[in-house]
Amino acid sequence: MRKPAKRRPAELQDRMIAGALREAGRPVSAYELIDQLRDVAVLAPQTVYRALGRLIAEGQAHRLESLNAFVACRHTHHDTGTAVFAICEKCGVVSEFDREDAVESLKGWAKSRQFKIAQMTLELRGLCSACTPES
Ligand SMILES: [Zn+2]
Ligand SMILES: [Zn+2]
Repeated sequence: MRKPAKRRPAELQDRMIAGALREAGRPVSAYELIDQLRDVAVLAPQTVYRALGRLIAEGQAHRLESLNAFVACRHTHHDTGTAVFAICEKCGVVSEFDREDAVESLKGWAKSRQFKIAQMTLELRGLCSACTPES
């Protein structure tokens, strides 16, 4: 038997959290999101984590493992689950960029090893151009 189709009450939360992520413009933790939305909604951490999980699955957000933070996806369409980030360790600026060739080459490697990729987020850590001392 099929489950009756019902509107997800979570849709509103997803939209709210996606908006807050974009507004933040930098990687934020779930707790920072709760704080940011304090005036409009009281959200439990689990609610936020679930919404973030859905946003990530839809390709609207990414999780940065090394920072334990979430960031809005800047791209309108890309392979969900694959993203490349450069993270400045000094000022914290994070840029997401498209490097199809990098992603493709890793996919090719995985394929040749019969490794099935579920998710791929590459994180480059270092100094951004503004933080690099002139030589
Ligand atoms: Zn992205
Ligand atoms: Zn920097």
